[in-house]
Formats: sequence, C-alpha cells, structure tokens
Amino acid sequence: MSFNIAIDGPAGAGKSTIARAAARNLGFLYVDTGAMYRAIAFSLIRSGVEPEDEAGIEKVLESMTIRIVYSDGEQQILLNGENVTAFLRDEAVGNMASRSASNPKVREKLLQLQRDLAKENDVIMDGRDIGTFVLPDADVKVYLTASVEERAKRRYLELIEKGQDADMEKIKEDIRTRDTQDMNRSIAPLKQAKDAVVIDSSKLTIPEVMDRIVDAFQESLKLKG
Ligand code: C5P
Repeated sequence: MSFNIAIDGPAGAGKSTIARAAARNLGFLYVDTGAMYRAIAFSLIRSGVEPEDEAGIEKVLESMTIRIVYSDGEQQILLNGENVTAFLRDEAVGNMASRSASNPKVREKLLQLQRDLAKENDVIMDGRDIGTFVLPDADVKVYLTASVEERAKRRYLELIEKGQDADMEKIKEDIRTRDTQDMNRSIAPLKQAKDAVVIDSSKLTIPEVMDRIVDAFQESLKLKG
C-alpha cells in the first residue's frame, strides 16, 4: 500500500517549496495539483475561453488530454502531448486557474488522475482540497498557512530576484482575492481538514517546517505499525 501525505493551504504559504523538499528527503513523488489546474487555465487562455463560459470550457476539456510524467524527480505536465510546465507560473495563469477551478467539470477532469497517482506511488500531494476531498484517507494531513503580509513579502522577493517588476500593495490585493475565491467557492473550497496538523510558516524557516512534517510522518508510521 502506498503512503500518502496531503498538504493544503492558501497561495504563497510555501506548500510547493516544502512539499518538494520533503518528497526528496523521503523518496516520495511530489505531486503539484495547482500546476494541473494551471495547465487547464493555460489551455483556456490559449483558446480565448472566459472562466464563466461553461459551454466553452466543456468543449476545451472534451478534446484535452493531461498527462503527468517525471523528469529528474520534477513533475512535468503534458497538455495534448506538449510539455507546458514552463508556462504555468505566470500570475495571469494562476489567476485564471483560481477562477476556473470552481467549475465542477474542471475538477472532475483532474480528480481521478490525482487519485491514481496517490494509489500507485508514495506521494506528497499539495493543493487546496487534498486532505478534505481528493485523499480523505491520507496517512498525514498538513494545513500549511502564513499571514498575508508574509506571503506577499515572499512573492515580492521572488519577483525581484527574477528581475521582474513588483508592487507590494498589488501583490497583497491579489493574495486576498485568491484567498477569497479559493475559500468561498461552493465546490471543494480551501479549508482545514479536521485531522490536519496545522503549521503557520510565518515565523518558521523551511527546515523548521520540514522537521514538523517529518515528525508527523514518523508518528503516522508508528501508528501504522
Ligand atoms: O497552488 P497554485 O497557486 O498553483 O494553484 C492555482 C489555483 O488552482 C489555486 O488558486 C486554486 O484555485 C486552484 N487549485 C484548486 N485545487 C487544488 C490546487 C489548486 O482549486 N487542489
């Protein structure tokens, strides 16, 4: 039986950094479900379909294939056979992903893919609804959060480091909008699973967060016998 760790939390809480590092540490696959929603969003942007256009979305989804492969331990997304991974981190793609992720057909398209990966592999999967819906029986569930200010600061520094323009107030506003959308949608909203370990990373370093996750993992291994 495979071992599954679910990490949920708002945008910018550090989920992917932590999940990637923990996966390497434990020898698990890192499954980034946000990138899957981003791949669908990317396809919608390319096709010029608005997130409110349900018929348009359905049409794009019908002819779309999404496959996940790994190269040097890094998840790659093949959209209709094309590797689109490099295009997915854009702010515009993230915003479109957040808007289109409330469409049930979009979520349905990805659910089985996510569950199959977790069934066949030891995984650390991050997202918004992993512990609450996709993998309700995950061995370890983590809810990773951080203050809006801290998340905005991290994003700001990331953009500056890449040599891109960054406006702190605009970043904060985007984060608040994304939180509102992700937490208040009627389908698969972001919320803490009852049995999740809650970690606020605002004042913790990456190794400190990692330690807590590895502790939760060891604890769960003991329980599993
Ligand atoms: O985590 P990331 O910022 O890459 O996710 C992009 C968007 O995809 C999120 O804002 C969220 O709306 C959506 N998403 C989701 N369910 C997941 C993962 C991401 O709805 N499991």
